[in-house]
Amino acid sequence: MLLLFMVFASCSSRKAIPDPVVENGVSRALAVYRKSVLSAIHYKLELSIPAQKTKAISAHEVLNFKLSTVKLPLQLDFKEDPSKISLLTVNGKKITVKHDQEHLILLPQYLKKGDNEVRILFSAGEGALNRNSDYLYTLFVPDRARTVFPCFDQPDLKATYTLTLHLPQDWKAIANAELKDTVQEQQRKTYHFKTSDLLSTYLFAFAAGKFELCQGLVNKLKADFLYRETDPDKLKASLPAIYAIHSASLKYFENWTAIPYPFQKFGFAAIPDFQFGGMEHPGAIQYKSASLFLDAGATKDQLNARTNLIAHETAHMWFGDLVTMDWFSDVWMKEVFANFMADKSAEESDGKASYSLKFLIDHFPAAYAVDRTPGANPIRQPLDNLKDAGTLYGNIIYHKAPVMMQQLESLMGKDKFQQGVREYLKKFANSNASWPDLIRILDAHTPADLEKWNKVWVNESGRPVIDYEIAYQSTQISALTITQRAEYGEKRVWPQAFEVTLFYPGSVKVLHADLAGEQLILKEAAGLDKPLFILFNSAGDGYGQWPVDPLMQSYLFTLEKPLHRSVAYISLYEQMLSGKTIEPAALLTLFSQGLGKEGEELNIRLLSNYISTIYWQFSDAQERQALSAALEDKLWSAMLSQKSNNNKKQLFKAYQDVFMSKTARNRLYQIWKNKNAPDGITLSEDDYTGLALSLAVRGDADDTILGVQDSRITNPDRKKRFEFIMPAVSEKKSVRDEFFASLKYPANRAKESNVLAALYYLHHPLRQQYSVGYLMKSLDLLAEIQSTGDIFFPQSWLQATFGTYQCKEAAAIVSEFLKDHPDYNPRLKAKILQATDNLFKTVRLSSQRGK
Ligand SMILES: [Zn+2]
Repeated sequence: MLLLFMVFASCSSRKAIPDPVVENGVSRALAVYRKSVLSAIHYKLELSIPAQKTKAISAHEVLNFKLSTVKLPLQLDFKEDPSKISLLTVNGKKITVKHDQEHLILLPQYLKKGDNEVRILFSAGEGALNRNSDYLYTLFVPDRARTVFPCFDQPDLKATYTLTLHLPQDWKAIANAELKDTVQEQQRKTYHFKTSDLLSTYLFAFAAGKFELCQGLVNKLKADFLYRETDPDKLKASLPAIYAIHSASLKYFENWTAIPYPFQKFGFAAIPDFQFGGMEHPGAIQYKSASLFLDAGATKDQLNARTNLIAHETAHMWFGDLVTMDWFSDVWMKEVFANFMADKSAEESDGKASYSLKFLIDHFPAAYAVDRTPGANPIRQPLDNLKDAGTLYGNIIYHKAPVMMQQLESLMGKDKFQQGVREYLKKFANSNASWPDLIRILDAHTPADLEKWNKVWVNESGRPVIDYEIAYQSTQISALTITQRAEYGEKRVWPQAFEVTLFYPGSVKVLHADLAGEQLILKEAAGLDKPLFILFNSAGDGYGQWPVDPLMQSYLFTLEKPLHRSVAYISLYEQMLSGKTIEPAALLTLFSQGLGKEGEELNIRLLSNYISTIYWQFSDAQERQALSAALEDKLWSAMLSQKSNNNKKQLFKAYQDVFMSKTARNRLYQIWKNKNAPDGITLSEDDYTGLALSLAVRGDADDTILGVQDSRITNPDRKKRFEFIMPAVSEKKSVRDEFFASLKYPANRAKESNVLAALYYLHHPLRQQYSVGYLMKSLDLLAEIQSTGDIFFPQSWLQATFGTYQCKEAAAIVSEFLKDHPDYNPRLKAKILQATDNLFKTVRLSSQRGK
């Protein structure tokens, strides 16, 4: 496949393009062929959506396009039963439906050079319509438009769309284009939308149903917002903020790119239990409702996440929507720009120090979590067929790529980088481009060797292990040498710049390191006085496993800058995983000592997350018992001593996560029962729901908890979610068995976000002696989950399933599965290795300890 790519890239002669065969999905060969013969594509689509979700959606499509040659049959993608098609005409002539391997085959004798028209009467496929009892929404990324209507489902065949929706009278709708008019009929209402801008099929979208409509302005653009949230506190606190964040983001990106908002309208919808955080359909962005609507008790973390999410989707309007990758192998480009640009827009509003801290905490731990595993994938991966595009997504795209982009920006300089990216956007607007297209443009703006840099950072996986040697002559440093090696695989170096800070009583000395090869002698260090301790990667922008000066630990919580502390926390945790320097129990104790002293909310979250992972995954039941009482005490007293309410809330959540004792149970039970939060903490309905589930999963003496909590929930969408999760938390094993068995049916996995929440409780460490029995079946289901689920689901399914196991038995099941499936899909195998890496590490670490 790699060879095929190179042929395409280097040669535009028609001879080099192999004729596409008919096969499932959208192969690269098919995409290249269609791109070479098709243009001027327009879809006119009319859908009649009944109120009952079990009734079929009748559809009429008129597809116009130009053909440059009619040599070969033309494949139109339709991944549905051909019996759904009742009438097919090509250029006015009725023809017999020929459907093969997910394609409608249009034979050359019906086609002509120049303009063609295909008309199709059919029932819409429902694979990507997300039908609920009183609303639905499309989600076509990466290649799921073809599950709903016949189309050329590839990102580089951009088309315009004219959509008409016939809906129940009390439904509302939003789509990519502006609304032209609505027509009222008896029980029904018709929405005619104008013709859209040029869009890739994966960006064509609409949502319709019983929604509330808010009409506001994003900058000067009219922007409709559909939502189903009912909580008046959340609405009051969130609606103005949601518009304000969109406005600020839009303005920032217009300035940064020097291109005004490129689409005819702005608009968005909040979808209950949406399977992603958001999706960037122009004019009809979709968001997970719970991420947009926050109440007055929201933590900084939640507020940051909302700002980031909105900025991310807004950045996509330029990066991904206006300029689109030509093939999904470069899907990471739109994601890295969206994430990186979202961070940049926050830098402008929050300042540099806060930006660096947020960037570090958001991206590095998540990138390391994949890149340190034997299943790590490169940022850029080849792709033979769009049906496998979903497997490309993951932490590397979302978190390592922004780190790489920041390195690239600092290598080129901010201005040159911006000039290059502006040139790229302008050149490829309303069209498609690849990563080599961008690198070619950037290369012209810098003397740096981007080719070499690109190879290790973008085309290869993994990270460097950085180490150091220091020599002293009496009280002075005689030499400080920094080295790097690859953590896995062959010998490689990652060129990167970073800082090393030497700490002295009352002062610091910052050294800049430019590590281009395997070794660097830091000349500046020679002759300096011996420091109290050294902090490596002190600016937090270097990537890899960083060394920890053993003298640093005792000064850890005296480090003044929050960024320095978080660099130290991350480096210590990575060192613990590597089995060097510090053991899990010792690190948990060290981190828990800082809970009362750490004042930065983002660092408290980082520490709490590390503590939770070490506690649940790197300690067995016996070790937990030994750690638990002291940890509970530390968390509770830290919560009381913290001044900020958000810090208190973070610690309360951490306490709720780890508690085991009777005292803690009684305390939390009373809080839940009387809805009486500790002083300074605001708990929302969602927080009380979480608390009820935490109590129930511990087999609480009050077995009415779940029923009572259910009766407290008033919003119908949240009630459905809770009722879905309830059996996974049940104390009765038979109920949990039945719940797990039900997941075998795709229909029961349709609400992915709810399934993931339920899996967390099903596989809770306190339930694992029973749930270990579900692991093999969970692996058996994975391939099917990839083919029926949305893009993040296989990874999240594995993470929610294996995320907290630590026993040898679980590790043996994974090994057995991999041994029994030697020819397993390599992308899915990599996901398994990523998700179970902590499991294997903890087994290895405990055998080192003689457990
Ligand atoms: Zn995105």
